Parts: sequence; structure tokens; C-alpha cells
Amino acid sequence: MDLRFTPEENRFREEVRAFLRAELPNAIRRKMVEGRSLAKEDLVAWQRILNARGWAVPHWPVEWGGTGWTPVEQYIFLDEMQQAPAPAPLPFGVTMVGPVIIQFGTEAQKKKFLPRIRNIDDYWCQGFSEPGSGSDLASLKTSAKLVGDHYVVNGQKIWTTGAQNADWIFCLVRTDTNVKKQEGISFLLIDMRTPGITVRPIVTIDGGREVNETFFDEVKVPVENRIGQENKGWDYAKFLLGNERTSIARVGMTKERIRRIRELAAQEMAGGRPLIADERFREKLAAVEIELKALEMTQLRVVAAERSRDRSKPDPFSSLLKIKGAEIQQATTELMMEIVGPYALPFQSPDEISEGGNEPPIGPEWAATIAPTYFNWRKLTIYGGSNEIQRNILAKAILGL
Ligand SMILES: Cc1cc2nc3c(=O)[nH]c(=O)nc-3n(C[C@H](O)[C@H](O)[C@H](O)COP(=O)(O)OP(=O)(O)OC[C@H]3O[C@@H](n4cnc5c(N)ncnc54)[C@H](O)[C@@H]3O)c2cc1C
Repeated sequence: MDLRFTPEENRFREEVRAFLRAELPNAIRRKMVEGRSLAKEDLVAWQRILNARGWAVPHWPVEWGGTGWTPVEQYIFLDEMQQAPAPAPLPFGVTMVGPVIIQFGTEAQKKKFLPRIRNIDDYWCQGFSEPGSGSDLASLKTSAKLVGDHYVVNGQKIWTTGAQNADWIFCLVRTDTNVKKQEGISFLLIDMRTPGITVRPIVTIDGGREVNETFFDEVKVPVENRIGQENKGWDYAKFLLGNERTSIARVGMTKERIRRIRELAAQEMAGGRPLIADERFREKLAAVEIELKALEMTQLRVVAAERSRDRSKPDPFSSLLKIKGAEIQQATTELMMEIVGPYALPFQSPDEISEGGNEPPIGPEWAATIAPTYFNWRKLTIYGGSNEIQRNILAKAILGL
């Protein structure tokens, strides 16, 4: 297998890089570098810039706005976007429900939803998890009863990322209780403005508002908003989750963070010399870089095999990318904590740090974002199916245990 890029692919990389240099708004780039939360407006603005260039949904079929790029070109685009660093397109629309609609939706659903997803005219969120049904997702209880030409939905979802901003939610609901649990689930698209939906925030450990509880009380959903067949929702969900896990690896983003770590460790003094000269620190940094190189090679192998793969089924290797990608990203937050040292005290405001008169060279405002990011990124090994569950999938699907 030849993993080198061709001259055309290298030229393509330059084109993407030039576009990002010219078009990525500096305010958004800075937020990304500093690990700050992006506002809905940031995501929408960036997605619309990509859409205007025709690059909002490269992996979709050309008739729905895809670019027709090869898997390698798609990989290069993603790598450059992450290294810029630019925000990833809103995954709930572009990576999750969009491909499900393309693969399993009706023509009417495609025409109605796909152009709006591309431009974030609709902001989507994901209603899969419930209290007691996370890893064991198939045990979900939110019910949908068919009454004439609509379903009536009752129940609760949890950890719904971005529900406070969302126009639409895609949900797994129980439509049959008398069969094996995987066989009684359907996949519904629900307008968040429908009466009976309540969104309640869950404040995360870093003080952020990204996840919610979402309640459904006698919510009416037209039957034409069901994806595919009734009780076949589990198949569509498995397809979606495979895509979610592939996008979690974020190799390019970690490359950018490592560059930043090197830069900052060269400024920070420890024991009379820059931290980057400290053997123990260098060892830890090198270990993370080696792991990242191995992950990149694995991702390239997956990209190289992409053409011959049956794309209607999830690729079990996506679990491998998810496990290692999440662990490596968490390791970079540990290195960042080491760089800022005592300034990593959680929730310390930038003003308090300045009052001490002993500012770290990297700037107090930025240092105060390190601990919240460290805590926030614990989520990476949980969402999209926890790393323990991914190991179970690998054991079964690849090792045959
Ligand atoms: C920040 C964040 C955002 C999220 N966003 C969304 C969202 O937008 N939409 C959505 O639907 N969900 C979302 N989730 C939910 C996420 O998918 C679940 O948290 C995840 O699937 C784990 O489920 P759980 O939290 O119920 O934990 P549990 O399933 O209760 O697991 C608890 C622990 O037990 C372990 N465990 C459970 N079963 C096994 C097993 N069989 N073998 C080995 N270990 C096991 C798990 O790995 C975990 O460590 C989000 C979660 C987080 C943290």
C-alpha cells in the first residue's frame, strides 16, 4: 500500500490551505486556537462560507452538493481544516442525519432537508440517549404511537448537545414493545418548535452550556417525518454512529495542538530553562507524537480501503479511530496543564491571575481556559459511544471474540 501523496494531491492541499488562509475569519480561528466555545453564529457563518465555495458537504453525493473528491482529497481537506484550525461543519446535520437522509430518506425528505443542512438554515441536534439508555441504547423508552397520520411522542432524551439552539432533532423512538428491543425502534425527524417539547440545560463541569435534557409530552410528529420503515430505526442508527466515530479522530486538530504545545513550552521557563528543554517533558511530548503518527497511518489505511468498502454498513475500524483519537486529544490537554502549571487552577478568572503580577509568558487570559478545556475534554472518551463500548465492538467485529 502506497501512502505517499501524488503531486496533484499536494497541489490540492495548497489550494485548500490558501482558501483557509483567505476565508477563515480571524476571530473564529482565535477562538479555536484558544479552545474557547464557539457561538452558534460562528458555526453558521463558517458553514455558509464553505457552502458558498461548494465545500460544505464534500462527502455527500454530487447531486446533493458533494464535491466528488476522492477519499484522499476528502482526507486532505479535513486535515487542513483541522490544522487551520477551522470549525468542523455542524456534525449533527452534515455528518449524522444528512447521510442517513441520503441513504434511507424519501425524495421529498431529501429535497426538504438536505439543502438546508448544507447551509445550516436548520440547526440539528441528536436525540438518542436517555436516562438509563446510553451504552445500552437499544433499551430506550421514549414512545411513539401512530394515531392516524402522525405519531404521538412521549418521553425524555438526555445529553442533547446544542438542543437550546436547534430547529430540528432526529430521534430514536420505541414503536413496538413486543419484539426484541432492537426491532421495535423507529427514526423520527422532529421540529423543535412542535408544542410539548421542553429543553432544560445541564451545566457541564467547566461551567459551559452544551448539553441538555429534552422532554416530549404528547408531541405530534407527521408520519412523513419518519426515516425509512417503521421499526427499522436501529439499522439507520448503526449507520449513523459509524460516521460519528470516524469524525471523532481529529488527527489534524491534534497536530495543531502539538504545534501550539511546542510553541508555548518554548516560552515557559521551568528550573531556569524553557520547559521544552526538560527531558521528562520532551519524553511525554514525543510519546504523544508517536501515538498520533500511528493514528494518522491507521486513518490513511482506512481512507485507502474506503473505495472498496460497503458504505451502507458501519466500518468497525471507526471504533479504533474513536478510541485512539479521543485518548490522544486528552493527552494533549494534560501537556497543556503541565505548561501552565499553577495557572491551570480551574475557573480562575483572567483578572485574578493578573493581580498576582506574575503572569505566565503565554498570557493570563489564555491560561485560564486550559483547565476548563482539560475537564471538558473528558467527554471525548464518553460521547459517540464510550471507549469501553468501542473496545467491545472491536473485540467482536475485528478480533472475532
Ligand atoms: C458531552 C456529551 C455530549 C453528548 N451529546 C449527545 C447528544 O447530542 N445526543 C445523544 O443522544 N447523546 C449524547 N451524549 C450521550 C453519550 O452518547 C452517552 O453518554 C454515552 O453513550 C454513554 O452512555 P451513559 O452516559 O448512559 O453511560 P452508561 O451507559 O451508564 O455507562 C457508564 C459507564 O459504564 C461503562 N459501560 C457501560 N456498559 C458497558 C459494557 N457493556 N462494557 C464495558 N463498559 C460498559 C461505560 O463505558 C461508562 O464508563 C453525550 C454525552 C456527553 C458526555
